[in-house]
Amino acid sequence: MSFIELTDVTKFYSGSSQPAVNHLHLKIEKGEIVTLLGPSGCGKTTTLRMIAGFEKATSGTITIDGTVVDQGHYALAPEKRGIGMVFQDYALFPHLTIEKNVMFGLTRMTKKARKKRAEEVLNLVELLPYKDRFPHELSGGQQQRIALARALAPNPYVILMDEPFSNLDASLREQMRQDVTDILRKANTTAILVSHDQKDAFVVSDRVVVMNQGVIQQIATPKDMYRCPRNCFVAQFIGKTNLLQGTLEADQKHVLTPIGRICLPEKTDQAMTDVHLSVRPEACVINKQGEGRYHGMIDRVMYSGEYQEVFLHLDGDHTREPIVLYVSIDEDVQVGSRLSFDIRSEMVTLVEA
Ligand code: ATP
Repeated sequence: MSFIELTDVTKFYSGSSQPAVNHLHLKIEKGEIVTLLGPSGCGKTTTLRMIAGFEKATSGTITIDGTVVDQGHYALAPEKRGIGMVFQDYALFPHLTIEKNVMFGLTRMTKKARKKRAEEVLNLVELLPYKDRFPHELSGGQQQRIALARALAPNPYVILMDEPFSNLDASLREQMRQDVTDILRKANTTAILVSHDQKDAFVVSDRVVVMNQGVIQQIATPKDMYRCPRNCFVAQFIGKTNLLQGTLEADQKHVLTPIGRICLPEKTDQAMTDVHLSVRPEACVINKQGEGRYHGMIDRVMYSGEYQEVFLHLDGDHTREPIVLYVSIDEDVQVGSRLSFDIRSEMVTLVEA
C-alpha cells in the first residue's frame, strides 16, 4: 500500500450536477513531492482539501499511512490526520513572534520541548536569528519559510501547500521554488502542492499530476510529462507544442500530416489510423542550407531573451495554425523570409485526442 492513496474519489459540491473531482485514483509514496497541476477550476484545490479533511469526498476512499481518513460517511477530523498545511497567504498570526508562530501548533509538549523544536525547524529554514521578530518584519519569501517551518514543526505525515508561490514576484518565486524544495528534502517529508504554474510544478516535484475538469489526465515525472504527453490537453498545457492530425501509415512508423510525412521514434501498436501528433518546438531543427524536408515562410518572431519563438507558415498550407520553432538568439530569422527545417523523430509523440 502506498503512503497516501486516493481510490475512486469523487466530489460533488451541493447543488452542482458536475463533479469537481471525478473518479480520481492517486498513490503517493513516502518522501515524494507531488504537484497537482491544472487550469483554474480543474479540481486541484478540492483534492487537496479532501486530503486535509476540510472537504468530505462524496464517494471513494482516502488513506494516509494505512489509516482510512475518508470513506462512506466517515471522515477523520483534519487535526487528527497528521497534516501540515501551508496556505496561499501563509496565515501567520500577526501579533505573535516568529518563534511563537512556530510553537503554536505544538501541543502536548513541555514549553522547553516546544522551544527546542521551534529552534530546530527555524534552523532548517535558516531563519533562527529572526525568531523574535513579527511576521510584518519579514519579506514575503521569509514569511513563507516561516509558514513552512510552522507546518513542519509537529512532524506531520504530509505537508500540503496550496499555490505556495503565487504571492511572490518573479525573481523571488524562482528562489523560493529552490528553497522550498531544499527544505522539504532536508526534512525528508512527503508533500503535495497545488499549482496552476507549470514551472512551479516542474522545478519542485518528483511527479506531476495534471488535471482537467476534475479528471486526472496524466501522472508522470516532469521529464516524462514533457517528452511523452499522453493526450492533446497535456501536450498543450505543458510547454509549447505543435499538434498535428494525421493518418498512420501501414508500416506503423510514419504519419501523413498536412505538413508532410513525419517519422515516429519507434513503431507503434496503435490500432486507429486517425492519429494526433505532438511535435515539440525543439524537435524542429533549422537547415541553414535550405535543404530540410519542410519549408515555410516566417510569419512572426517573438524574442524572449533566452531564445526566439518563430511562427512559420508552411508551403502550400495557408489554412492551419503556424508551426512554432524555438531558435537560438544568435540565429538571424526575419519575418517574411523563408526557412527550411527537419523534425527529430525522438521528440515526436503520438497523443490521444
Ligand atoms: P483554482 O486554481 O481556481 O483554485 P482549482 O483547480 O483548485 O481552481 P477547485 O477550487 O477545486 O479548482 O474547483 C473545482 C470546481 O468545483 C470548480 O468548478 C469550482 O467552481 C467548484 N467549487 C469549488 N469550491 C466550491 C464550493 N465550496 N462550492 C461549490 N462549488 C465549488
